[in-house]
Amino acid sequence: MKSDFKELLREEAKKINIELNEDELEKFEKYKKLLVEWNEKMNLTSITEDYDVVMKHFIDSLEVVKYINEGSNIIDVGTGAGFPGIVIAIYFEGKVNITLLDALNKRLIFLEEVIKNLDLKNIEIVHGRAEEMAHNENYRNKYDIVVSRAVAPLNILVEYNFAYLKLGGKCLLLKGSNVQEEIESAKKAIETLELKITNIFEYKYVYNEEEYKRYIIEIKRIKEVSNKYPRSNGKIKKSPL
Ligand code: SAM
Repeated sequence: MKSDFKELLREEAKKINIELNEDELEKFEKYKKLLVEWNEKMNLTSITEDYDVVMKHFIDSLEVVKYINEGSNIIDVGTGAGFPGIVIAIYFEGKVNITLLDALNKRLIFLEEVIKNLDLKNIEIVHGRAEEMAHNENYRNKYDIVVSRAVAPLNILVEYNFAYLKLGGKCLLLKGSNVQEEIESAKKAIETLELKITNIFEYKYVYNEEEYKRYIIEIKRIKEVSNKYPRSNGKIKKSPL
């Protein structure tokens, strides 16, 4: 039987130059069903209609795969219900290693179920606060790529994220339209943490006949900094860099 959901996702992905095969579409559909089903028991997302899930979660998250190479070791900090981490895992089908990190355990229980149902490979789930786990030697300096969507303002987010990266590794941060302001207010943090903004990728999509502009900020780790970073959450929030 033809599935409207899969057709919709296939078409919208094509518009952003991404071809999804039948197996991937099947997995996205299962993921959407689990998201909607579990959302009745726990608060995972306010977005549950097919069209909205396709555009606001799947298409938005899929943009980031354009800047990821096969073989990368990736961490999604503040993954929530798996955006963009699960989307990356489906798209690269075991060709990347991915860690999903979140401070809220109930969301991780949902993600375990998704991983089991979709039979996703090379995924690890970590329960903890970003700024604390960044001091754990199993995760510090270990990743080629850190991704995050909708987790914190940029000046705070870079402190949460940078230490997961190997030297030369990059953050890919999915952000909304006020990107210039965010970058302005994160200047000091980026300088203090010896990071460098290397690209700002703009992308657009039409949603309910309106055009939305979104950005992926690429930030590289270029030098070592003191082990005192990231600081505790209290300090980060009280005196952001
Ligand atoms: N990335 C997902 C998305 O785009 O749908 C979730 C976004 S949700 C608004 C923010 C998520 O970040 C929540 O699941 C929250 O628990 C997590 N989060 C916020 N601060 C965090 C921190 N310091 N450490 C770990 N997770 C954090």
